[in-house]
Amino acid sequence: MVPRRPAFVPDESGLLFASFAAEARLSKRKDRMAAAVQDLKNLADRAVAEIAACADDAALEAARVRYFGRRDGAVTQATKQIATLPASEKPAYGAAVNEARARIEAALESRGAALRGAKVDQGLGEREDVTLPGRPVRVGRLHPVSRAIRDVSRIFGTMGFETVEGPEIETDYYNFEALNIPPGHPAREKWDTLWVSNPLGDDPKMPLLGRTHTSPMQVRIMEQRKPPIRVVVPGRCYRYEATDAIRESIFFQYEGLAIDEKLTMADLKGVLYSFARQYFGSQHNVRFRPDYFPFTEPSAEIAFSCVICEGKDPQCHTCGGDGWIEAAGCGMVHPAILRRVGYDPERYQGFAFGGGIERLAMLKSRAPDIRMLYQNDLRFLESF
Ligand SMILES: [Zn+2]
Repeated sequence: MVPRRPAFVPDESGLLFASFAAEARLSKRKDRMAAAVQDLKNLADRAVAEIAACADDAALEAARVRYFGRRDGAVTQATKQIATLPASEKPAYGAAVNEARARIEAALESRGAALRGAKVDQGLGEREDVTLPGRPVRVGRLHPVSRAIRDVSRIFGTMGFETVEGPEIETDYYNFEALNIPPGHPAREKWDTLWVSNPLGDDPKMPLLGRTHTSPMQVRIMEQRKPPIRVVVPGRCYRYEATDAIRESIFFQYEGLAIDEKLTMADLKGVLYSFARQYFGSQHNVRFRPDYFPFTEPSAEIAFSCVICEGKDPQCHTCGGDGWIEAAGCGMVHPAILRRVGYDPERYQGFAFGGGIERLAMLKSRAPDIRMLYQNDLRFLESF
């Protein structure tokens, strides 16, 4: 009988070894898994800290790419890793990846919301604080001379006078001749004239000048219209003279003209008194004195009491110490002028007056010197 070969008996020690080896492998794998899970936790910790420190949208987007970028994102890589693991390791590792993903996503969401909130807060900070006191608005205002022109138009307007304007460059005819001031007339010396040369060639019969007064418009209006006439003409005038406290070489005048039947000197005085009272108030005195103008007969000078010194300062620069400021010349329209424009002096009478706008503005603003009106000193101009 052939002894049977004993069946394979596993070598105890070999078995033991195999068992140890397997255990060691298992243990090693477990260690590796534990390390991988710990790595994912560390990754998530680091990511959460980084994301919380992102100062703006760009930094936040860079962090998102760093962790969730399609190719190289750290979480993306870890997710891809799951498929390569043995089935037994997938659940633990997969759970760790999911946890890291969730934490990092939550951190991105939270930081994004915080940055959006900060932007809104910043926007709120830039808005007007309605509880602050308002900033003062610098409001423009009319120059005292412009106001005086408007006052003149308004006040005479209440008495039926229409405001019209005329040319500042006049002919010698309208400025002088038509007003009974022919060449050589001594009255011309009252108006030192700025002659203007015509760029198209001077006409010796019709020299041009800067109008020395607004009176030329008396004749122009009478030529254009039929009575009754009531007009007031504010406008700029020019004289060749030195400037002092009450005279400027360029200045504004207002001219008034009324033509109607049965007008008398009483109507003239009534209109000018009414104007003076409306402009200055009734506390100021008005003085009429006989005067001479070639284009009115009789003529008068109207003066207002000095508002600067009220007649009490003999050294007053504004009134020269006599307490009166000549403010206008006036009179009944000369019959020769009425005839020259074709009116019948037996039927129509008229009165005319003219005065300086700056004088009015000075008296009202109490400016002691006419030059203050044109020096554009805001300390003066802003006081009105
Ligand atoms: Zn005075």
